[in-house]
Amino acid sequence: MPRPILATVHSDALRHNLSRARHFAPDARVWAVVKANAYGHGIERCFDALRAADGFALLDLAEAERLRALDWRGPIHLLEGVFEPRDLELCSRLHLWHTVHCTEQIDWLAAHKTQVPHRVFLKLNSGMNRLGFTPAAFRSAWARLNALPQVDEISLMTHFSDADGARGIAHQVAAFEEATADLPGERTLCNSAAILRHAKHALRGSASLSADWVREGIALYGSAPDFPEKRVTDWDLQPAMTLSSRIIGTQSLQRGDTVGYGSAFTADGPMRIGVVACGYADGYPRHAPTGTPVLVNGVRTRVIGRVSMDMLTVDLSGVDTAGIGSEVVLWGRAGSGEVLPIDEVASSAGTISYELMCAVAPRVPFGAP
Ligand SMILES: *Cc1c(COP(=O)(O)O)cnc(C)c1O
Repeated sequence: MPRPILATVHSDALRHNLSRARHFAPDARVWAVVKANAYGHGIERCFDALRAADGFALLDLAEAERLRALDWRGPIHLLEGVFEPRDLELCSRLHLWHTVHCTEQIDWLAAHKTQVPHRVFLKLNSGMNRLGFTPAAFRSAWARLNALPQVDEISLMTHFSDADGARGIAHQVAAFEEATADLPGERTLCNSAAILRHAKHALRGSASLSADWVREGIALYGSAPDFPEKRVTDWDLQPAMTLSSRIIGTQSLQRGDTVGYGSAFTADGPMRIGVVACGYADGYPRHAPTGTPVLVNGVRTRVIGRVSMDMLTVDLSGVDTAGIGSEVVLWGRAGSGEVLPIDEVASSAGTISYELMCAVAPRVPFGAP
């Protein structure tokens, strides 16, 4: 028997979460963001459930090729655009739409020989200070692109830094509106946090922002981008991934007994613990401290002691039915239907759900639900 660890992708949850994006941004078309191999879920595994999206957004050209190999003929958006001039050949051949965020990318387009004019997304740096033209440089970039025979349609794009937090998006929306005022073309805005928290305002508040594209990533996969202020249940999102394993050993401890490397946990009385076949070499965060939630036989309990490479230990107090072979859910959905949101595990380990999803190790097999 293989080691019992397993990752499962729930197509029903992906479909449901996509429908939630449509609920929050009813007038917009939805990009399913599938970068980083669909946030660790696997593009091929998610494709059927997400093909109801209006397009797929990602940034790795090899991932774009995989989508075309799945016979996806709809829009694909390269969120970071091309990395070197010859990438434009692939864009021509596979009809990839691409972001233009710097002058060099315009130079490359101007030198590109193609029969197929490209659709590009001109990106404004509206305050994030990652990719994009400053408001002062935006119009001349637009004018240069607009004069190129290589360019067919220019859409306008920006990215929000604080959609999940107190600062919000108003200042960036204002910068975007000012820089793009009376420029033609579709607008693409909004990551998950902006879709859930601000889309109705952002897309309805101003006529120029209506009927747009939004870019949904993390919410598709069933995580609340603004945890812990909001939880997946508040947004009615469902976990798209379950990471599960089994108990492969148990120990009975007495008061004063310690557990694992560094003796990081000490029992303060008699207790039973379970040893789970999951460790940091599977992508479980090593920094998850004692108290990180876990489900054993669908019952919520906690990780104790230090996470090691191949194993971690859990408290079996109150889970009397548990023994060798019992189901352990590290995050996601238990057989009983109980859910452990990945956000809670990530937060306990001092990180975010994105990192955990993307870090599931290659040695973890994916199975059908
Ligand atoms: C990753 C990404 C998104 C999606 O962000 P989520 O927070 O996962 O919804 C949207 N837009 C851009 C440009 C991105 O890089």
